[in-house]
Amino acid sequence: MDLGHEQSSMEEYSYVVVGGGIAGVTCAEHLYILHPEAEILVITATPLIKAVTNVLPLTKTLDSFDVEERPAEELKNNCPNVTVAKDTVAHLDADKQLCVCTGASPKLIDNSPHVVWIRDTESACQFQSRIQKAKRILIVGNGGIATEMVFEVTGLQILWVIKDKFMTANFIDAGAAEFLRPELDKEKSENTFPLKRRKYTVDKMEAGASVLGGALGPDWHTGLELKGDIHRKVTIETEVEIRKILEPVDVRQPGKTITTLNSEEGEWPVYVELTNGKVYGCDFIVSAIGVTPNTSNFLKGNKFTLGEEGGFLVNEKMETSEKNVYAAGDVCTPGWQPAQHWFQMRLWTQARQMGSYAAKCMWSSLAKEEIYMDFCFELFSHATKFFGYKVILLGLFNGQRLEGKYEILLRYTKGMEYIKCVMVDGRMQGAVLIGETNMEETFENLILNQMDLSVYGEDLLNPDVDIEDYFD
Ligand code: FAD
Repeated sequence: MDLGHEQSSMEEYSYVVVGGGIAGVTCAEHLYILHPEAEILVITATPLIKAVTNVLPLTKTLDSFDVEERPAEELKNNCPNVTVAKDTVAHLDADKQLCVCTGASPKLIDNSPHVVWIRDTESACQFQSRIQKAKRILIVGNGGIATEMVFEVTGLQILWVIKDKFMTANFIDAGAAEFLRPELDKEKSENTFPLKRRKYTVDKMEAGASVLGGALGPDWHTGLELKGDIHRKVTIETEVEIRKILEPVDVRQPGKTITTLNSEEGEWPVYVELTNGKVYGCDFIVSAIGVTPNTSNFLKGNKFTLGEEGGFLVNEKMETSEKNVYAAGDVCTPGWQPAQHWFQMRLWTQARQMGSYAAKCMWSSLAKEEIYMDFCFELFSHATKFFGYKVILLGLFNGQRLEGKYEILLRYTKGMEYIKCVMVDGRMQGAVLIGETNMEETFENLILNQMDLSVYGEDLLNPDVDIEDYFD
C-alpha cells in the first residue's frame, strides 16, 4: 500500500483500516474488542477522527448518538492496540485484512469559485466565512443537508432550488413536507439560535490536498455563526434544475430578464439560470446534491467491482471483489440481496452499523468463525431532526420498491405530529413519525413481524386506542 507521504512497515499489523470517519473508527474499535491481542493500524487523511458518544437505544435497530471530532491519539487511549497514522492512501496493493472506509465527496453542480459545499470541518468553516457578507444564497439539492441549511441560516434571503415537487423529498412525502413547511415562515426562536462559540477548528491542509476530513453530521451547524438574525426569507423553486451559472457580464446582454425578489436589487456576484427560464442573482451557490464514494485512489492496478452509485460493491460479508479488502460506510454499495425492509442511504447510522459489522467479518475470516448478518440490516431505520421536529423513518417509509401499490394511514395534528404508515394487504411496510409520537418501537415490531393488521383498519392510528398495549 502506498501512503501519500511516507512508506511505513505494514508487517506488524493484522488489520488495516483506511479512514477516520464513523465507519473506520467503529471498525477499529470493534476489531480491538473482538481481537484484543492483534495490532490494528488506522490510516486517515486528517488529524481529527470521529467518536460516537452518548449512545441511546431507541428501538431494536435504532440508536440515537452524538458524534464528536477528537484528536486521533484518543483512539489509542481507549484501544491500546490501535495505531493511527495521519496519511493519505494513494495506491492499494492488499495482502492484509484491510477495510476501506474513505467516505464520499460532494457532487458539484459546477467547478466554479461561486459554488460551495459542506462536507467536513474545513468546508463548514469556509461556508461560515462566506456567509458573513452575503445577502442572498442559492441552495441546490433536496436532501438532509439542504433542508437543515434552509432552516438554520437566517437573516438573509435563501433561494432553494429543488428538482422535486416538494421539499425534502429524499426523506419525506408531500404530506409531511406540508406539515413542516409553516416552520419556514416562522421567525427563528431563541433556543434554536446558533451558539456564539466556534466548535470547529481546522489544521491547514497541505496545498492541493484533495482528501476531505470525516463527514459532518446533523450538528454541522452547531457553533457556526450563521448570520444570527431571527428573520427567515425563503423562496422555493420546485421542479427545476440549474441550467447555467452566469457572470454579471453575461446577464447584461439584451434579452436577459432577471427575476427580482425586492425592488432595490443591485448587481450580484453571480447569476443562475434555471430550467424554468428564470434568472436569479445571488452572492454564492451551495451545492447539496449528493455524494460520490471516494474510491479513485484505490482503483489503479486493482479490479474492484463498483456498485450503481460508484461505491465498492460489497457482499454479505462486507468483502469487495478484491481478496482481503473489505469496505464500509459511504464508500461502499451493498451488493447482497437486501432484506425486504432495508436499503442503503449514506447516513451516519449505516456508517456505524457497517463499520461494526465489517470488523466482525474481518475477525471471523482470520479466526475461521462463522458469523451471521447483523440484525440491523433487517430494517431501515433513521432518526433525525427536521425544522426542530424529531423525525423517525422506518422500513419502506416512502413506499420505496412498492411501485405505488400501497395504502397510507395518516394521523396529522398541525404543529404537533405527523404519523404515516405505509400498508400493503393490512401489513405495515414502513412509517414516518414526526414529533414526539413514541410509536417507534411498536411500529418497528409491526414492520418486522408483518402481523396482519386489517381488522384494526384506521383504528391503528386512533389516538384513543392505545396500540402499544396491543402490540409491544
Ligand atoms: P467519512 O465520515 O467521510 O470518513 C471518511 C474518512 O476517510 C475521513 O477521515 C477522510 O479523511 C478519510 N480518507 C478519505 N480518503 C482517504 C485516503 N485516500 N487515505 C486516507 N484517508 C482517507 N448522516 C446522518 O445520519 N444524519 C445526518 O443528519 C447527517 N447530516 C449530515 C450533514 C452533513 C453536512 C454531511 C456532510 C453529512 C451528513 N450525514 C448525516 C452523512 C454522514 O455524515 C455520513 O454518512 C457519514 O459520516 C459517513 O461516514 P464514513 O465513515 O463512511 O465517511
